[in-house]
Amino acid sequence: MAAQTAAPQQPTATTATPAPLPEAPFSATVRVRSPRGFIWLVTARSLSVNVTGLEAVEERLLAAGFEPAEERSAAQVAQGEASAPMCPTHNKPMKRGRRGWFCSVQVAPDDGTGKPVYCKCTA
Ligand SMILES: [Zn+2]
Repeated sequence: MAAQTAAPQQPTATTATPAPLPEAPFSATVRVRSPRGFIWLVTARSLSVNVTGLEAVEERLLAAGFEPAEERSAAQVAQGEASAPMCPTHNKPMKRGRRGWFCSVQVAPDDGTGKPVYCKCTA
Protein backbone atom coordinates (compact mmCIF):
# COMPACT_ATOMS: atom_id res chain seq x y z
CA MET A 1 0.00 0.00 0.00
CA ALA A 2 1.38 3.43 -0.99
CA ALA A 3 1.62 6.08 1.68
CA GLN A 4 -0.72 8.98 1.29
CA THR A 5 1.33 12.08 0.40
CA ALA A 6 -1.50 14.43 -0.38
CA ALA A 7 -1.61 17.45 1.88
CA PRO A 8 -4.58 17.63 4.20
CA GLN A 9 -7.46 19.55 2.75
CA GLN A 10 -7.45 23.16 3.89
CA PRO A 11 -10.87 24.56 4.61
CA THR A 12 -11.48 27.19 1.98
CA ALA A 13 -11.72 30.58 3.66
CA THR A 14 -14.27 32.18 1.41
CA THR A 15 -15.63 34.54 4.03
CA ALA A 16 -12.32 36.38 4.58
CA THR A 17 -11.48 36.88 0.91
CA PRO A 18 -11.43 40.62 0.18
CA ALA A 19 -13.50 41.61 -2.79
CA PRO A 20 -11.64 43.58 -5.51
CA LEU A 21 -13.91 46.59 -5.08
CA PRO A 22 -16.47 45.61 -7.73
CA GLU A 23 -19.01 48.18 -6.60
CA ALA A 24 -17.21 50.49 -4.22
CA PRO A 25 -19.74 51.84 -1.73
CA PHE A 26 -17.69 55.00 -1.41
CA SER A 27 -16.07 56.92 -4.21
CA ALA A 28 -14.93 60.50 -4.46
CA THR A 29 -13.78 62.38 -7.53
CA VAL A 30 -11.56 65.41 -7.43
CA ARG A 31 -10.75 67.72 -10.34
CA VAL A 32 -7.11 68.75 -10.33
CA ARG A 33 -4.83 70.73 -12.59
CA SER A 34 -1.49 69.13 -13.38
CA PRO A 35 1.77 71.14 -13.32
CA ARG A 36 1.51 71.30 -17.13
CA GLY A 37 -2.03 72.63 -17.01
CA PHE A 38 -4.03 69.51 -17.81
CA ILE A 39 -7.28 69.04 -15.93
CA TRP A 40 -7.68 65.54 -14.46
CA LEU A 41 -10.50 63.81 -12.71
CA VAL A 42 -9.03 61.56 -10.03
CA THR A 43 -11.41 59.08 -8.44
CA ALA A 44 -10.70 57.41 -5.11
CA ARG A 45 -12.73 54.34 -4.24
CA SER A 46 -13.10 52.60 -0.91
CA LEU A 47 -15.25 50.09 0.89
CA SER A 48 -16.25 52.72 3.41
CA VAL A 49 -16.17 56.46 3.86
CA ASN A 50 -12.44 57.04 4.01
CA VAL A 51 -11.57 60.66 4.72
CA THR A 52 -8.03 59.77 5.74
CA GLY A 53 -7.56 58.14 2.37
CA LEU A 54 -8.80 61.28 0.65
CA GLU A 55 -6.32 63.39 2.57
CA ALA A 56 -3.56 61.02 1.50
CA VAL A 57 -4.67 61.47 -2.12
CA GLU A 58 -4.58 65.24 -1.66
CA GLU A 59 -1.11 65.07 -0.17
CA ARG A 60 0.20 62.98 -3.04
CA LEU A 61 -1.38 65.24 -5.64
CA LEU A 62 -0.01 68.39 -4.01
CA ALA A 63 3.42 66.80 -3.61
CA ALA A 64 3.40 66.06 -7.35
CA GLY A 65 2.63 69.69 -8.11
CA PHE A 66 -1.09 69.30 -8.84
CA GLU A 67 -3.48 72.03 -7.80
CA PRO A 68 -7.20 71.99 -7.12
CA ALA A 69 -8.99 72.85 -10.36
CA GLU A 70 -12.14 74.43 -9.06
CA GLU A 71 -14.66 75.80 -11.45
CA ARG A 72 -15.04 79.22 -9.92
CA SER A 73 -15.68 82.57 -11.41
CA ALA A 74 -12.75 84.94 -11.80
CA ALA A 75 -14.17 87.12 -9.02
CA GLN A 76 -14.33 84.17 -6.64
CA VAL A 77 -10.78 83.20 -7.55
CA ALA A 78 -9.56 86.74 -6.90
CA GLN A 79 -11.43 86.78 -3.60
CA GLY A 80 -9.88 83.47 -2.59
CA GLU A 81 -6.41 84.67 -3.40
CA ALA A 82 -7.01 87.93 -1.60
CA SER A 83 -7.94 86.05 1.58
CA ALA A 84 -4.88 83.83 1.40
CA PRO A 85 -2.07 84.91 3.74
CA MET A 86 1.15 85.98 2.08
CA CYS A 87 4.47 84.23 2.64
CA PRO A 88 6.72 86.86 4.28
CA THR A 89 9.80 85.35 2.60
CA HIS A 90 8.50 85.09 -0.96
CA ASN A 91 5.65 87.63 -0.89
CA LYS A 92 3.38 85.10 -2.59
CA PRO A 93 -0.09 83.93 -1.58
CA MET A 94 -0.01 80.73 0.39
CA LYS A 95 -1.99 77.63 -0.49
CA ARG A 96 -4.41 75.85 1.77
CA GLY A 97 -3.26 72.40 2.81
CA ARG A 98 -4.26 69.77 5.29
CA ARG A 99 -2.57 71.54 8.19
CA GLY A 100 -3.53 75.05 7.19
CA TRP A 101 -1.87 77.53 4.89
CA PHE A 102 1.54 76.78 3.49
CA CYS A 103 3.97 78.35 1.03
CA SER A 104 4.44 76.14 -2.03
CA VAL A 105 7.67 77.75 -3.22
CA GLN A 106 10.44 75.20 -3.73
CA VAL A 107 13.61 76.56 -2.17
CA ALA A 108 16.02 73.73 -3.07
CA PRO A 109 15.87 70.86 -5.56
CA ASP A 110 17.18 68.29 -3.05
CA ASP A 111 17.26 68.00 0.74
CA GLY A 112 19.98 65.33 0.62
CA THR A 113 17.50 62.45 0.43
CA GLY A 114 16.29 63.23 -3.08
CA LYS A 115 13.18 65.12 -2.00
CA PRO A 116 12.68 68.75 -2.96
CA VAL A 117 12.75 71.30 -0.17
CA TYR A 118 9.81 73.67 0.12
CA CYS A 119 9.44 76.91 1.99
CA LYS A 120 8.73 76.21 5.65
CA CYS A 121 6.44 79.20 6.09
CA THR A 122 2.94 78.37 7.36
CA ALA A 123 0.04 80.42 8.60
ZN1 LIG B 1 7.72 81.10 1.16
